[in-house]
Amino acid sequence: MLTLLPPQFRLDFAAFRVLSLGHWQHLVTVYFGVSGRDIKPMQLIFLGPPGAGKGTQASFLAERRQIPHISTGDILRDAIAGKTALGIQAQNHVEAGELVPDLLIMALMRERFGQSDMVRGWILDGFPRTLPQAHALDQLLSLFRQPYPRVVHFESSPDILVKRMLARGRKDDNEDTIRRRLDVYQEDTAPLIDFYQRRRCLTTVNGNLSVDEVARTLEEALLQAQCSPPV
Ligand code: AMP
Repeated sequence: MLTLLPPQFRLDFAAFRVLSLGHWQHLVTVYFGVSGRDIKPMQLIFLGPPGAGKGTQASFLAERRQIPHISTGDILRDAIAGKTALGIQAQNHVEAGELVPDLLIMALMRERFGQSDMVRGWILDGFPRTLPQAHALDQLLSLFRQPYPRVVHFESSPDILVKRMLARGRKDDNEDTIRRRLDVYQEDTAPLIDFYQRRRCLTTVNGNLSVDEVARTLEEALLQAQCSPPV
């Protein structure tokens, strides 16, 4: 195309292409608050113990990228408050700090993946939480032709987690339930760290830092993080 132009226009045309790319990136940065090289759809799993800051960071990031933040905990709390069939089945488990049965969660996520807003990217916060849920997610990804997600592991020390959860004052945030949820995390969810590490899709961030510091390290980690699951 360039060689078809008379020589006096070639330089201008090349300059225009460079300028317009820079201009486009600038507009994206100004309007969306993200760098132009990172606006491709983003599929993320946030993994970590309760109280590690997954929900806070997921809601910031989802707002900035204009993608859905899917918190299974929030969906269950809404269902319990609304006394829906799902809420009635989940209530005792949630209030005791136990996991809701896998089949209920899988059905809920299958329905969620079928919604049209999922094409722009998504952040999963609190799912998967067990190995069977991780395998079910693999099937959902292939069923809905979704890309393989990157996994962010929020690492936090137990005393900080307990302090943060007690300060939140949620109904399932009393001391006994908190201890049970931390035990359940170790037993059922922590094995997922190894599961995703083996797929080379896991990035760890330090969840002990302040909210702003975690947000900054998360953005940096996401720019570098690659995911290349073995086929
Ligand atoms: P969260 O707000 O993510 O800490 O979740 C609150 C509670 O909801 C948990 O303690 C579980 O009882 C239940 N829950 C949330 N997500 C899941 C899941 N993926 N599998 C089973 N139970 C879940």
